[in-house]
Amino acid sequence: MTTRLLAAHTADEIKQAAREAAACLRAGDIAAVPTETVYGLACDALNAGAAGKVFAAKERPSFDPLIVHVADASWIESLSDMTGPVGLLAQELAAAFWPGPLTMVLSAKDLVPDLVRSGLPTVALRCSAHPVMAAVIDELGRPIAAPSANRFGRISPVTAEHVVEELGGRIPLVLDGGPCRHGLESTIVAVEDRRLVLLRPGPVTAEVLEKFAPVERAAGGVVVSAPGMLESHYAPRTPLRLWPEGAPLPDDAATSGVLAFGAVGPGFAAVEALPSDPADAAPLFFAALRRLDAAGVRRIYAREISESGLGMAIMDRLRRAAHG
Ligand code: AMP
Ligand code: MG
Repeated sequence: MTTRLLAAHTADEIKQAAREAAACLRAGDIAAVPTETVYGLACDALNAGAAGKVFAAKERPSFDPLIVHVADASWIESLSDMTGPVGLLAQELAAAFWPGPLTMVLSAKDLVPDLVRSGLPTVALRCSAHPVMAAVIDELGRPIAAPSANRFGRISPVTAEHVVEELGGRIPLVLDGGPCRHGLESTIVAVEDRRLVLLRPGPVTAEVLEKFAPVERAAGGVVVSAPGMLESHYAPRTPLRLWPEGAPLPDDAATSGVLAFGAVGPGFAAVEALPSDPADAAPLFFAALRRLDAAGVRRIYAREISESGLGMAIMDRLRRAAHG
């Protein structure tokens, strides 16, 4: 299969690209679409056959559910049960953060195909602020399921080129909307009776969510209660280890690369030095990891970053990327 890249930068390009993508999705096919977090691999969320193509292209196991994107908060009610205090809290969160990088896990209505939610009684809902994703949903007039547009377990794509690296030849269409603004996947919370369970830290921080309801999280930062919260994820092919501040220079530094937040001393074969402020580092993070993965080094060492604000999401991704 040839993968077509369509530019979606100017208003006219976005309109045209959204029409083509919507036609593709209406026909039950799949297409990669930029969001403000990472690129998503989109399909009609109410078409189980199309969702099957997303799982196949990504080689994603069927126990890992997809996030469903909606046009606005008024769509929540048609996909999930909004009665009681959970509904009120979800409406409040949607009013505060949508469109934006917050995914809410809510009780699902039967309309949402089993495959999309991996047989769970819940559905994950999000409303993207990206003009391209918004335009595609608008054109299609239906919710879109869109997990990150990478092969399962790999580094999430933050440019159209990354999507082609991951899925070129496997999908018919990629809309190129340029680099993603946040560069880290959405925050995922399970909305429960007067509390939120943080399933994945992301751009909407726990500190901010605390203003709406108590936020519960495990010691490591993530509650492992969703099938997709696998320990190994976001992983480069090259083995990656955390290299804490104060630890000696690794013995194999000369054949290794290093991902640092701030300055790093000499000794490594390849260096990616990101800003030390997590908010500035986040949009550059996955691209830097990809460059190190392609640099031909035997191992990647990653410095730690302070876990305040977006630092929690970055450390979550780094811990899961670590292997070997
Ligand atoms: P991705 O879009 O590739 O970042 O992956 C979406 C993630 O959302 C999955 O890995 C799941 O962990 C999570 N997710 C999606 N649906 C649900 C759900 N119903 N309950 C809990 N987590 C979910
Ligand atoms: Mg993913």
